[in-house]
Amino acid sequence: MNKPLTTPSSYDVTKVRADFPILAREVHGKPLVYLDSAASAQKPQQVIDAITRVYSHEYANVHRGAYYLSETATAAYEAAREKVRGFINAAHVSEVVFTKGATEAINLVAATWGRKFLKEGDEIVLTTVEHHSNIVPWQLLREAVGCVLTVVPVAADGSIDIAEFAKAIGPKTKLVAVAHVSNVLGTVLPVRDIADLAHAAGAKILLDGCQGIVHAHVDVQDLGCDFYVFSGHKLYGPTGIGVLWARQELLEAMPPYQGGGDMIDTVTFAKTTWAPPPAKFEAGTPPIVQAIGLGAAIDYLNSLDRVAAAKHETALLRYAMSSLQQVPGIRLIGTAPGKAAVQSFVMDGAHPHDLATVLDRSGVCVRAGHHCAQPLMDVLGVTATTRASFGIYNTMAEVDALIAALRRAQEVLL
Ligand code: PMP
Repeated sequence: MNKPLTTPSSYDVTKVRADFPILAREVHGKPLVYLDSAASAQKPQQVIDAITRVYSHEYANVHRGAYYLSETATAAYEAAREKVRGFINAAHVSEVVFTKGATEAINLVAATWGRKFLKEGDEIVLTTVEHHSNIVPWQLLREAVGCVLTVVPVAADGSIDIAEFAKAIGPKTKLVAVAHVSNVLGTVLPVRDIADLAHAAGAKILLDGCQGIVHAHVDVQDLGCDFYVFSGHKLYGPTGIGVLWARQELLEAMPPYQGGGDMIDTVTFAKTTWAPPPAKFEAGTPPIVQAIGLGAAIDYLNSLDRVAAAKHETALLRYAMSSLQQVPGIRLIGTAPGKAAVQSFVMDGAHPHDLATVLDRSGVCVRAGHHCAQPLMDVLGVTATTRASFGIYNTMAEVDALIAALRRAQEVLL
């Protein structure tokens, strides 16, 4: 085994691990080795405690109650919105819309902004690496308004050349909708440059930040995007909560997504007027506790040295890449320079699903399948990959455990 690249000395991964109670458990009698954070990250005690505290002591519906508990819950819910604003450096807190996840956020943009502003022949530029949730909503929009989807190709190593965007973006382009970071390949897209190209053509840009926000500091103003979406559960927060960030003027111009309580100004049977954003897009009782839990996850991440955490993840990735390459019959999928800590691979003679099942017997959790990116699998010429993804709590010893489990799997499967 080659020597692990060292992690920054300011980063105490043992201390971080102690914050995640689930990491102490065993699976099939083996210590849990959780390498599936790109699908969903584990939760620190601070998030679990925040959720328990709300349900135990501070819970009521928000925005409507004239009593202490409801005011407390409302303040906590709105404080979570402010925490998200600060975390992504949005200019205004009213630009942060809570959704149930990134998928809902993209569907919201497609169904509201898309249906209002796109017409037949208008183009949306995507890439081959997109997750289904950044493909299918645009296909639904295509069915509704007759717009055209243009797909930017990915190179063999998983990188995407900015020149390909320059070719794809033109006068008919109304939207460029791309992943910030690929969930299969780990590729970090050149989003600032893509934003400049989109804006030069008079188009808007939506970034699917599900994987991007997890691995690096995100500043939506700096990125120059118009829409940024992500899910709380990949950011060490609860499920059932996500964020749509959009520039104020876009949210104001967009019609509501769903109708119901909380999103109105006045209602009569003859006519209804809308509340200003973000309430306009948050019909019904929102995911109150989930939002507060996301706020707690942001507090937790802010309490860490995030630069050191990112360096730690990069060190894990580099060690994993070099270790995997030493296992005979393994081929890495996704080796773009500067990529994030997500590594797909295939192993000769073993289907990824069988491999993942055998690895599980060693306590190693990895994902196998098409990762909700079937068009990418087609281009890569595989039906599925096995993917190990790393978070702030993973260790070099866990990379060693993955490699040892892979070697054992080869004995069983081959
Ligand atoms: N986009 C990317 C890049 C993702 O990785 C995921 C989750 N795998 C999604 C979108 C969808 O996120 P969610 O299921 O939380 O809505």
